[in-house]
Amino acid sequence: MDAIIIGGGIAGLTTALFLHRAGFKPRIFEAATSYKPIGVGINMMPHAMRDLDSLGLTAGLAVRGIEAREFAFYNRHGQHIYSEPCGRHAGYDFPHFSVHRADLHAVLHEAVVARLGSDAVQMAHRCVRVDQDDRSVCVQFEDAHTGAPLAPVRGEIVIACDGFHSAVRRQFYPGEKPGFGGINMWRGVTRSKPFLTGASVTRIGPISPGKFLIYPIRNFDDGTQLINWVAEIQGGELTMNDWHTPGRRDEFAHVYRDWRFDWMDVPDLIERSEFILQYPMVDRDPVDRWAFGRVTLLGDAAHPMYPRGGNGAAQSIIDARTIARLLAAGGDPVRVLAAFEAERLAPTATIVRTNRVRPPDALINLVEARTAGQRFDRIEDVVTAAEIRDLVAGYATVAGYDISQANQQPSEVPA
Ligand SMILES: Cc1cc2nc3c(=O)[nH]c(=O)nc-3n(C[C@H](O)[C@H](O)[C@H](O)COP(=O)(O)OP(=O)(O)OC[C@H]3O[C@@H](n4cnc5c(N)ncnc54)[C@H](O)[C@@H]3O)c2cc1C
Repeated sequence: MDAIIIGGGIAGLTTALFLHRAGFKPRIFEAATSYKPIGVGINMMPHAMRDLDSLGLTAGLAVRGIEAREFAFYNRHGQHIYSEPCGRHAGYDFPHFSVHRADLHAVLHEAVVARLGSDAVQMAHRCVRVDQDDRSVCVQFEDAHTGAPLAPVRGEIVIACDGFHSAVRRQFYPGEKPGFGGINMWRGVTRSKPFLTGASVTRIGPISPGKFLIYPIRNFDDGTQLINWVAEIQGGELTMNDWHTPGRRDEFAHVYRDWRFDWMDVPDLIERSEFILQYPMVDRDPVDRWAFGRVTLLGDAAHPMYPRGGNGAAQSIIDARTIARLLAAGGDPVRVLAAFEAERLAPTATIVRTNRVRPPDALINLVEARTAGQRFDRIEDVVTAAEIRDLVAGYATVAGYDISQANQQPSEVPA
């Protein structure tokens, strides 16, 4: 099987690694002229780590990232609402890592180079369209430096992993607009001393006036950590959704100016950030088809979702394992791609919709509503244990990382 992968991001590289393990030698074409350490933190939860572990990548992530211990929820006054252990601390067979997206990408890229060769990823190849006949697919590229057309590349199938702004998706769904629910995000990283357990994925405050998500993503020898933070604020216009867009402190920092708690000084964290990026909370409406003959969408190209609950990357990794398993079983590639779509489209569409209306931090919004944004005396008087279970565990089930799902699903791609 001569498979062409368009896009060498998280989905494209993971797909290449799984296909390689199944005995194929895919070619990857990436639009970027070089990989730059752009982005901030990403959570790799056990349902994704199960698959990365099967590729032998756990040790690389353990060195670069931080094994998370707990999910913690606080109101906007810094009062503790709820915590629960995560990853292996919660009995999962696989760890939960909080990691810089660039470190995750580097682990994948190094593995691709080691296993498929240094020429496996062709950089500066921007796909502009795909054409197919009964026997093959032809991909048209342009040079990302000059915009000049490059020699077309022919293969048996195309797996389009070209992300949120996928050129291949645009070919099949012209005129699509991003889904924007009116939330903007500002993100950054700040070197700081550890807070709470030193490995707490912590959500503070409701979406209105503003939510703040913090977790450490790197340890330093002097005992400090790189703390990833995300301010999510309801309101504002849809800005360009590009991971490189810089943001400004004065656009959002006032919301958090009084958030100085005994366990975290939020204004200080924002003030000392190494940089600030702005990104809107965007997704796309789920579509009915990803597979078009010999071409399929995968990862963010197939199911772009709000970056909540660590699922953008996780679902791409699960897609990668799934398509490799199906291709390894053999058969007509057109049918195999249709089978991939049949297996993965519905569950990911459910996550896209759930992330819009009932994200993992719905618990904080409930507490905010019941206390009218005021301090509470006893959390037990505000929300019951059953309600907490329902809100937090409910999301985990939809997202495929409740403990029975994550521990039981085997990684079925032949070694
Ligand atoms: C630079 C960057 C930084 C990011 N930072 C974060 C972050 O900090 N936190 C977070 O939660 N998520 C981040 N994301 C998104 C996150 O990686 C994805 O949501 C998720 O991992 C799904 O991965 P994906 O491979 O489907 O998409 P992506 O990771 O977006 O990868 C898509 C890849 O396709 C390439 N590409 C795009 N168009 C073409 C084309 N026409 N031809 C060839 N190649 C093309 C892109 O350059 C990219 O390498 C970032 C994505 C990028 C590209």
